[in-house]
Amino acid sequence: MRSKGKRVAKPAASGSKRNVAVIGGGLAGLACALAAARAGASVQLFALRVAGDPAVHVDVVPNMLRGLVQLGVGDACVRAGFPYRRTSAIGQRGTPLYSLDAARLAGPRYPGALGITSAQLHAVLKAAGAEAGVVMRLGEPVVDVDVEGPRLRFARGEPLRVDLAVLACGARGGLRERFFGADALPAEAEWSCGLAGRPLALDDALQATTAAGDRAHVVPVSGSLAGVRVASRQAIGALDAQALRALLARFPAPIAALAAHVEEGAPVVRQQLASGLLPQPWARGAVLAVGDCAHALPAVFGQAGAQAIEDAVVLGELLRQEGTPAAIAQRLVARRFPRVQQVAAIAMQAARWQAAPEGDTDLLQLARSLDAVVHEPA
Ligand SMILES: Cc1cc2nc3c(=O)[nH]c(=O)nc-3n(C[C@H](O)[C@H](O)[C@H](O)COP(=O)(O)OP(=O)(O)OC[C@H]3O[C@@H](n4cnc5c(N)ncnc54)[C@H](O)[C@@H]3O)c2cc1C
Repeated sequence: MRSKGKRVAKPAASGSKRNVAVIGGGLAGLACALAAARAGASVQLFALRVAGDPAVHVDVVPNMLRGLVQLGVGDACVRAGFPYRRTSAIGQRGTPLYSLDAARLAGPRYPGALGITSAQLHAVLKAAGAEAGVVMRLGEPVVDVDVEGPRLRFARGEPLRVDLAVLACGARGGLRERFFGADALPAEAEWSCGLAGRPLALDDALQATTAAGDRAHVVPVSGSLAGVRVASRQAIGALDAQALRALLARFPAPIAALAAHVEEGAPVVRQQLASGLLPQPWARGAVLAVGDCAHALPAVFGQAGAQAIEDAVVLGELLRQEGTPAAIAQRLVARRFPRVQQVAAIAMQAARWQAAPEGDTDLLQLARSLDAVVHEPA
């Protein structure tokens, strides 16, 4: 993406433009804000901060890359990440479980998939949003949202009335529970994430599962680095390079070998992942849930972020159409719910198998049926 220097934010609302507030500065919030601004809305994004973690990687699977291309940030993502061609999964003692090529859903100019750090992906989306005129109101968390209006309430200052409020506040924010009356989602897994030096032979994505239900995911994020993450049943005390090496060493050879590439002092972070769908409806009036707030998916098959990006693509498309903001919110839910439900059913079946890897679940078959679903446009 070309930098065009210092930019003046557009006013929050003007003329007959739709006034959209996005709450949350994660992937869903940034992508929806960008899509809405590109569709001609006046957009304000409210978040404490916008910054992914440099030690956490995102596996940008084919339908996610297609969505990022549709949002106009495909080239910037390819430049910031590491394109790869296939994902292989291995079981106990290195037994191959499946190996699948990443379909080039984003078109012939783009790779099938890529690895990128969460910090880089957030930075790309934030820069594109600012360029499209999104007003970033950072340090301003939203305390509550009234469906009448809709109105946003803050700890300090006057409430703000908008045309459409997009709740992109994640799976475990209090706002999700308050507004939708939903139960809090428990954490499904705790992942230890960090970066290792990339062995030259590692140019694709790799997943592994042990009989104990431990999981590892590895994907190159640049010519010199690979993102690694491990979810383990066994608690680890420290959060440092040594602990990450010990976790990697529990896996079969190609993953265990990465332990030697985790540098002393490399940052390691722990992130909790919740999974579960917000019960329908995902919209009340002109207040709409997107991303993990509506559909937190397990990490298997990398669909959580992909579905967040698809929400944004569809939001942008619908905001180009006539209709009241409430009608747009309803249309988005009607379009997104069946697809996300299908993806979630497959991902959750695979996640159950990963947690207790016995029985005759055919992961290859699940991966293929998922590919068939996400091959279709969002
Ligand atoms: C360890 C780990 C690895 C993952 N790997 C992948 C992967 O490889 N591929 C993939 O596709 N997905 C992956 N995911 C999932 C992916 O990161 C999420 O699905 C995606 O980030 C969804 O983002 P979101 O914006 O919906 O939620 P979040 O990223 O949780 O963002 C929510 C934001 O809302 C803000 N917020 C909350 N409440 C308020 C409020 N009241 N006011 C203002 N702001 C508020 C929060 O501060 C936060 O910034 C991974 C997740 C984890 C934890």
